[in-house]
Amino acid sequence: MYVHLKTLGCRLNEAELETWAQAFQQKGHQITRQAENANLIVINSCAVTQDAARKSRQLIRRIHRANPAAKLVVSGCYATLNREEAEQLMGVDLVIGNQDKESLVAKTLTELNMDSMPAMSTEPGEVSLFSRGRQRAFIKVQDGCRYRCTFCIVTVARGEEKSRPIREIVDEINTLYSQGINEAVITGVHLGGYGSDSDQSLSDLIKAILSDTEIPRLRLGSLEPWELPNDFVELFDNPRLMPHLHLPLQSGSDSVLRRMARRCKTEEFNEIVTGLRTAVPHFNITTDIIVGFPGETEQEWHESFDFIENTGFGHIHIFAYSRREGTKASTLPNQIPEAVKKQRSRELHELTETMKRQFQSENIGRTTPVLWESQTEPLDNGKHRIFGYTPNYLRVGCEVDEPEAIENRIIDAKLMATDNNHLVATLV
Ligand code: SF4
Repeated sequence: MYVHLKTLGCRLNEAELETWAQAFQQKGHQITRQAENANLIVINSCAVTQDAARKSRQLIRRIHRANPAAKLVVSGCYATLNREEAEQLMGVDLVIGNQDKESLVAKTLTELNMDSMPAMSTEPGEVSLFSRGRQRAFIKVQDGCRYRCTFCIVTVARGEEKSRPIREIVDEINTLYSQGINEAVITGVHLGGYGSDSDQSLSDLIKAILSDTEIPRLRLGSLEPWELPNDFVELFDNPRLMPHLHLPLQSGSDSVLRRMARRCKTEEFNEIVTGLRTAVPHFNITTDIIVGFPGETEQEWHESFDFIENTGFGHIHIFAYSRREGTKASTLPNQIPEAVKKQRSRELHELTETMKRQFQSENIGRTTPVLWESQTEPLDNGKHRIFGYTPNYLRVGCEVDEPEAIENRIIDAKLMATDNNHLVATLV
């Protein structure tokens, strides 16, 4: 889903927009600058003066005229102080007062029933998987997919598999590195199919990047858990290849996976994960799960839940199944009622949170290199908290006097404790 965010007023409103943007992206949605292209528009309104309130009303009307089909959510001071008026404005679907701003993304997705699947299992660009910033670049190396998962519209949207030449990708990464990028993320609609249209493989590409560039960190974007090269696990012996993979499982029930026409069943998935974790301790595996796929019985749901729990994931993107015209799954019988999907989604969100904390705890006490990013927050004691990511993609926060001194550098840190959505670290 495409989300357009718009704000009026103070810097605080702007900062909230950034937080919401990240939260929407973490849920698998994309941010668009064009209101006309959005499925959902969120306006952070202002009421500091009469004029600001008038401008907020005008903006809401103008945006609705520009894209009447999009769902429209209004928050901020104008909407809080004039709730009834805001609710009556043409096109407004939901008003969220300032007191609920922190849960705006979750409320919007559940109340407007928009917590649904992305267009395809693996979105190119990966903006939803990884934090953006000046230190990380996304390099699309492949497009298209030759598989036909029954929920996926990719055949229509993306066509045949096409891979970019290795030399071109290596040159691009060398240029990015010379411009100050320290982490390259290679992405594709079906990244594992890299080279299927030539005589090369994903393994050849990774080896070439590691040998012909000096980029300190190479990360793989979302990767379907099949067709992995034979020497795949050994590639991670090189510490410049980051020990984190997003492997979309979609369901932990084999009968559901069959209806989805997935090429990887639970046993093979388990083998891949075990191989990676045995070779590289603390390897982070994250995944996508669709809940409420057509015909998903209570028993299948429990099978799926148990498999997910036993496997353990660092994070899960959860999608309630939604019918997508043109896909085989939309014609399958026994579509699941919304209330059941919501309940399963809630249960899985709780499990995800527990597993995430568990994975964070397992990493406490380790000393690990962190790529420190430009994202910082001021603290009451005059210091700043700067954030960064470990090789296995754990978000880490550290108190420092001068964040600029370590921004975009890779410096070791000791992971001390968990705090909300990050690990607390000290520089070593
Ligand atoms: S492997 Fe399946 S889900 Fe992934 S892009 Fe291809 S058809 Fe879509």
